[in-house]
Amino acid sequence: MVECTFCKIISGKIQGDILYEDDKVVAFSDINPQAPVHVLIVPKKHIPTILDVKERDMDIVSHIYSIVNRIAEDKGLSSKGFRVVLNCKDDGGQAVYHLHFHLLGGRRMNWPAG
Ligand code: 5GP
Ligand code: ZN
Repeated sequence: MVECTFCKIISGKIQGDILYEDDKVVAFSDINPQAPVHVLIVPKKHIPTILDVKERDMDIVSHIYSIVNRIAEDKGLSSKGFRVVLNCKDDGGQAVYHLHFHLLGGRRMNWPAG
C-alpha cells in the first residue's frame, strides 16, 4: 500500500514544519497557508476520514482537541478567536485522506465557508 503524504511527514520520509509532536499526534504548518496561522493537527494513526473514526479512537480525538487549544494559545489566537475545519471526502473538499484538523487564525474568517 502506498503511504499517504501525512504518514510520510509523521515518519520523517518527507519534511514538515513540525510545531508539536507526542505519541498520538503531530502538528505542522500547512504547505499552502490560507491564513496567517494555518496549522494541521493530525493523528499519528492513519485514519482516512472522519467516517472511519471508531469508538476506540475517542482518546485520540479528545487529545486532538486539547492540542488544538494549546497551539491556538501558543500562536496568540485565543483572545480574538480562530477556526477549526475538518473536510470529509470530495464534497467536503478533502484532498489528503488522513484525518486532520485545520487550525486557521490571524485574520477574520468569512461565513458561510466557500
Ligand atoms: P484537505 O483539503 O485534505 O482538508 O487539506 C489538506 C491540506 O494539506 C491542504 O491545506 C494542503 O495545503 C496541505 N498539504 C498537502 N500536502 C502537504 C505537504 O506535503 N505538506 C504540508 N505541510 N501540507 C500539505
Ligand atoms: Zn496516512
